[in-house]
Amino acid sequence: MENFRFRALASTFDRKKVSYTMPDKKPSEYFGEMTFNLSAMKEYLTDESFKKVMSAINEGTKIDRESAAQIAASMKAWSISKGATHYTHWFHPLTGSTAEKHDSFVNPDGGGKAIENFRGNELIQQEPDASSFPHGGIRNTFEARGYTAWDPTSPAFILGNTLCIPTIFVSYTGEALDYKTPLLKSSFALDKAARAVCKMFNGDIGRVYASLGWEQEYFLVDRSLFIARPDLVLTGRTLFGHASAKDQQLSDHYFGTIPERVKEFMKEFETEAHKLGIPVKTRHNEVAPNQFECAPVYEEVNIAVDHNQLIMYLMEKAARNHNFEVLFHEKPFAKINGSGKHNNWSLATDKGHNLFAPGKTQKENLRFVTFLVNVLMGVNEYEDLIRASISSASNDNRLGGHEAPPAIISVFIGSQLTSLLDRIEASNDKSGLNEELKAALNINVPNIPEILMDNTDRNRTSPFAFTGNKFEFRAVGSSANCAKPMISLNTVLAKQLTNFKRDVDQLLAKGLDFEDSVYQVIKDYIVRSKRIRFEGNNYSEEWQIEAQKRGLSNIKTTPETLKTLVKKNIIELFEETNVLTARELEARRLIRLEKFIKKVQIESRVLGDMANNHIIPIAIRYQNTLIENVKGLKEILDLQTYGKVSKNELEIITNISHHISEIKRGVDKMINERKVANNLVDEAAKAVAYDTKVRVTAESIRTHIDKLELLIDDELWPLPKYRELLFIR
Ligand code: ADP
Ligand code: MG
Repeated sequence: MENFRFRALASTFDRKKVSYTMPDKKPSEYFGEMTFNLSAMKEYLTDESFKKVMSAINEGTKIDRESAAQIAASMKAWSISKGATHYTHWFHPLTGSTAEKHDSFVNPDGGGKAIENFRGNELIQQEPDASSFPHGGIRNTFEARGYTAWDPTSPAFILGNTLCIPTIFVSYTGEALDYKTPLLKSSFALDKAARAVCKMFNGDIGRVYASLGWEQEYFLVDRSLFIARPDLVLTGRTLFGHASAKDQQLSDHYFGTIPERVKEFMKEFETEAHKLGIPVKTRHNEVAPNQFECAPVYEEVNIAVDHNQLIMYLMEKAARNHNFEVLFHEKPFAKINGSGKHNNWSLATDKGHNLFAPGKTQKENLRFVTFLVNVLMGVNEYEDLIRASISSASNDNRLGGHEAPPAIISVFIGSQLTSLLDRIEASNDKSGLNEELKAALNINVPNIPEILMDNTDRNRTSPFAFTGNKFEFRAVGSSANCAKPMISLNTVLAKQLTNFKRDVDQLLAKGLDFEDSVYQVIKDYIVRSKRIRFEGNNYSEEWQIEAQKRGLSNIKTTPETLKTLVKKNIIELFEETNVLTARELEARRLIRLEKFIKKVQIESRVLGDMANNHIIPIAIRYQNTLIENVKGLKEILDLQTYGKVSKNELEIITNISHHISEIKRGVDKMINERKVANNLVDEAAKAVAYDTKVRVTAESIRTHIDKLELLIDDELWPLPKYRELLFIR
C-alpha cells in the first residue's frame, strides 16, 4: 500500500522555484494603480461629481442619482481601460469572509450587438440573491431580499477582471446583515462625540476618525502536506498531532531569516497589495516555526478593515502559486503559539492630530490625558463587551494558551503614565494636575512621544496595551474581521466621551472653570477605572486570582461571551449611539452561536472520521505485525528466553490496544454527545453542550491519537506529522 504521507513529503522535496513576474517599476509607480483612488477620480470624474464624492467621503452627504450615473460611467471607463470585463458589489456578510457576485458589463443593444454598460443604479444599489447568508432570524423567507449599497468612502478596486465596489449589506427592512454597516455607524457616533469633546479644548476641529493598523499573523504549510491532512483542509487546524521534538524552544525562528520560498510568496502578495493601494510595510518571521506576520501603515478604520479582508484573499491566492497554503486559524497547531491580529487603534483629527498622542502644549496634553482616561473608563465599563467582540470557536483555542493573552481584559499603560495618573489621583486641585502634566510629559521636549513609546512598549503580555500614541488590542484573533472589535471600541468610546462632556458641562454650569472641571472629572474617572489597569504579567497565575478579586470578568468560552450581546446595558449602549438595534444584536448573537456550533460540529465529525478511518486501522495493522512477531519468537525460542524478549513487545501491544479502545470509546461517546446536543432547541444551550461535552471528548480522543503516533511504525503513519508540517524547506 502506498503511504499518502510519503507521497506528499516526496513532492515537497522537488519544489521548482515559482516565478512571479515583478513589475519592472518601483512600488511608488504602481501603488494604487488598480483602485479608483483620488487621482483616478480626478482624471475620470467631472469637477461636479468629484466634489460630490469628496463631500460624501468627508461629510457623509448623499450622492444624487445624476451624479451617480456620471460616476458609474467614469468607473466603467476607468476599469475597462484596466482590463475589467465584470463588476461586483463586494461586501462582508456575517459569515466572516467577503462575498461577491460578478455581472458582466456587456449588455445586448437590441440590434444583435452588445455594448458595455454600467448604470448609476447598478453602482448605488443591488439586490443579490442573499437568502443563504446568515441573518439570525431577521429575514423571513417572504422578505428574503437583501440589498447592497455603495460605500463611497472606500475606493473601488479591480481584482482579476472584475471591478469591485465596496458596499454595505442590509435586509429589506433595513437591518444590517454585515460588518460594514455598524462599523460606519460607530465611526459616525465616535466622530460626533469626539468632536464635541475636542471643541471644548479647541474650536478648530472638523472631523475625528479612528485609525487602524492591523498586524496579521499567519502560518504557511506546504500545499501537498496540507492536502494530505483532511483536518487542515476541512477545519483549518490540526485536530491531532504529537508535538515535534523541536519546535519553538530555541526561539530561533523569531525575526530569523525568511526562507527563500516564503520570501517569493511575500513579494507576490505584497506587490499585488500595493497595486490595490494597501500600504503593506512590514514582514517578519514570528515566534513559532512557519509563522509569519505582515503589517501595513495604519489607515482610516473602514479602509483598513477592507484592506485586511482583501489582503487575506491576496495571501491565499499567492500562497497557492508558491505551493503553500496559508493558515489564518488562531490555533492551527497545539502547544505552540497561535496567531493573533493586533489591532492598533488611535483617533485622528482632520487637522492631523493624533488624540492618543501627547502634544507640545499644556492644553494638548490635557486633551491627551482626557482621551486616555476616557478609554480606560470605557474599557472598564464595557470589558465584557470588548471580550465578546473577539470571541470565536477558533480564538477560544488560542486565548490563555502559549504566549497569548488570557480571557481577562485589562489595559497596560506603562510606568510613566501610571505614575502620572497616580499623581493626579493624589493631588488636591488642578494646580497639581498642571504640575504633574508638566513633569510627567516633559513639556517642551520635542521628542516626547518617542520617549513615551519606548517606555510603554515593554509589556507584551497585555491584551490591550497603550503603546505611545495608540492602543494595541492584541487579543483579536488572526482570522477575525477587524470590524468586530473596532465596532465595539468605537461605540464604547463614543458613549464614554458623551458621558465625559455631560459630566464636565455639569461642573461648568456650577461655575467651575474649564480646567477645574476637566480635572475633577478626570480624577474621578481615574479612581473609578483603576481596576482595569494592570502592568504585570498577564500570562501569570497570580493575575487570574488578582483579576477575580478586582471583579473583572474572565469569560473563557464563546457561548458564555455571547450572553453579553443582549445584556440590558449593552443594548442601551448600541441603541443610544445608533450603531445596532436590539433586534440586530439578537440576530448577531444567534448567528455567532450557530457558527460556533457548526465549527465544533465539523471538527468533531472530521476527528471521528479520521480516528475511525485513518488511525485505528493503521494501529491495528501495526499491532498485528507485532503479534505475528511475538508468535514467531515463540516458535523459535525456548520458553525462558521467549518470556524475557516478548515482555517488551507485549507491553507495546497492550499499550496500543489500550489507546485503540479509548479512541473507539471516545468516538462513540462523542457521537452520542452530538446527538444529545443536536436535540436541544435553544441555540445557547446547544452551543454550551458542544463546548463542554463534544469539545472536551474530542480533546481526550486527541490525547490517545497523539500517544499512538509515538508508538506506531513511522512508515505506516498516514498523516504528515508536526515536524514535517512545521518546517518549510
Ligand atoms: P509591533 O507591535 O510589532 O512592535 P509597531 O508598534 O511598530 O509594531 O506597530 C505596528 C502597527 O501599528 C502598524 O500596522 C502601524 O501602522 C500601526 N500604527 C502605528 N501608529 C499608529 C497609530 N497612530 N494609529 C494606529 N495604528 C498605528
Ligand atoms: Mg504589535
